[in-house]
Amino acid sequence: MFDYRTYYTDKHTIILKFTDFGFASELMEGIESSGYETATPVQTQVIPMILQGKDVIASAQTGTGKTAAFLLPLINQLIKHKHSNHVSAMIIVPTRELAIQISQHMEGLSYFTNVSSIAIYGGGDGNSFIDEKRALMNGVDVVICTPGKMISHLNMGYVNLKKLQFLILDEADRMLDMGFHEDIIRIINHMGADRQNLLFSATMPPKIRELARKILKNPAEVNISLSKPPDRIKQEAFVVYEPQKIPLVVYLLKEKKLKSVVIFCSKKQSVKQLTSQLKRSGINADEIHSDLEQAERENVLMAFKSKRLPVLVATDIISRGIDIEDIDLVINYDVPNDGEDYVHRIGRTARAETTGIAYTFISEQEQSKFQEIEKLIEKVVDKTPLPESIGEGPVYKPNERKFSRRPPNNKRPFPKKKP
Ligand code: AMP
Repeated sequence: MFDYRTYYTDKHTIILKFTDFGFASELMEGIESSGYETATPVQTQVIPMILQGKDVIASAQTGTGKTAAFLLPLINQLIKHKHSNHVSAMIIVPTRELAIQISQHMEGLSYFTNVSSIAIYGGGDGNSFIDEKRALMNGVDVVICTPGKMISHLNMGYVNLKKLQFLILDEADRMLDMGFHEDIIRIINHMGADRQNLLFSATMPPKIRELARKILKNPAEVNISLSKPPDRIKQEAFVVYEPQKIPLVVYLLKEKKLKSVVIFCSKKQSVKQLTSQLKRSGINADEIHSDLEQAERENVLMAFKSKRLPVLVATDIISRGIDIEDIDLVINYDVPNDGEDYVHRIGRTARAETTGIAYTFISEQEQSKFQEIEKLIEKVVDKTPLPESIGEGPVYKPNERKFSRRPPNNKRPFPKKKP
C-alpha cells in the first residue's frame, strides 16, 4: 500500500493508478467511464488519508482534481457502510454552480454504485424544495449544498444530521469571503460529534486555520501548490480545427527534423490513431499507453531513451516522473485536463538545465480549458500563426460559452440509469 507521507516532488513523482487504492469494483467502473487513468498529486496524497479515517485539511486549487480526491474515498466508504434512512455525508460549497458541478461529478463517479446524492441550492422553485425535503427526511447518502439553502431546511425542523459520518467543506476560503462563517457553524451544530471532517481551500489565510481548529480533529495536512514551468521552456500554442492537428504534427516533425520528440494525447485512441498516421507519413514513431504490456512499454521507452526512436506518442502515463534527458520538443496534441498535467507534460523537455520547446494544439472545444491552464500557470502562452499549408485555424475566443468544457448546468454527464 502507498505511504501517503511520501511527498510529491517534480523529480520523484509517484504515479498511482486507481487500482492501487483498493476501491470497490462498482466505483472502479465509474472511474473508468470518466476516463481517469492515473491519480493526480492531490488525489495521490489525500485519498489514502481519507480511507484511513483521518480528518484532512488540504490546500488545492481548482484544476488539480481535488473534487474526485474527496468524492472517490467518500463513495467507496459509503458503498461499504451504507445506511439508507439518514444523511451520511454533507458537502458544503459556496455557490450553486459549484454544487451542480460537484453533483454531476458525483453522478458520474457513483453511476454504477448504490450511493445516492442530491444537490440542494438556492434559486429553485417550490417543487425542488419538496424534492429536497423528501430526500432529507427519507435519507439520502450525500447532500451537496450551499449554506443558505441548508439553513432554510434545518429551520423547518425535519432534518436530522446526528448520524452524519462525513463533513466536507469545499472552497472554504471562498465561503468565508462570502460571509458564510456563521451559517457553517450553525449547520455543524446540528451534527453529531463522531464524524470525519475534510476541509479544502485554495488558500490558507489565518481565518481558515481558525475555522479548521474549530472543526477538524488532529488533521493531516496536504499542500499542493502548482509548480510553474521553468522559463527556459519556450511555450507556444497553435489554435486549430480538430482535423488540422494531424497534418500540423506531420508538418512540424518534417520541418524540424528533431532527434527526440514526445507527443502527448489525453486518450489512448488518439495515441493509436496519430501513431499510425505518422508511420504512414514515413515518420519513425511509436506509441506508449496502458493497453500495452509492461514489457512492450519498457521496450518502446528504451528505444526512445537511447535515441533509436525519435518520436514517441504517449498518454499521460509518462508525463510524470519519468526522467528522459534531451527531449527537444513536447507537443500537446490536445489540451491536458488540468494545469498539473500541462506542467508535467512540458516539463519532459528542458530537463537538467537545458532549453526546450513545448507546443500545444488548441481546438475550438479546448479553448476555455487552455485559458484555465494559463490562469493556473500565470502566463499567457503565445498563439503562433499556422503554416500556410495547414490553412486558416479558428479564432481564439476562449470566453465564448459554447466552447465550455463542462456540460450545460444540470445536464447528466451519463445517460440515465436503467432501473
Ligand atoms: P477539479 O480540480 O476537481 O475541478 O478537477 C479538474 C478536472 O480534472 C475535472 O474536469 C475532472 O474531471 C478532471 N480530473 C480529475 N481527476 C482526474 C484524473 N485522475 N485524471 C484525469 N482527469 C481528472
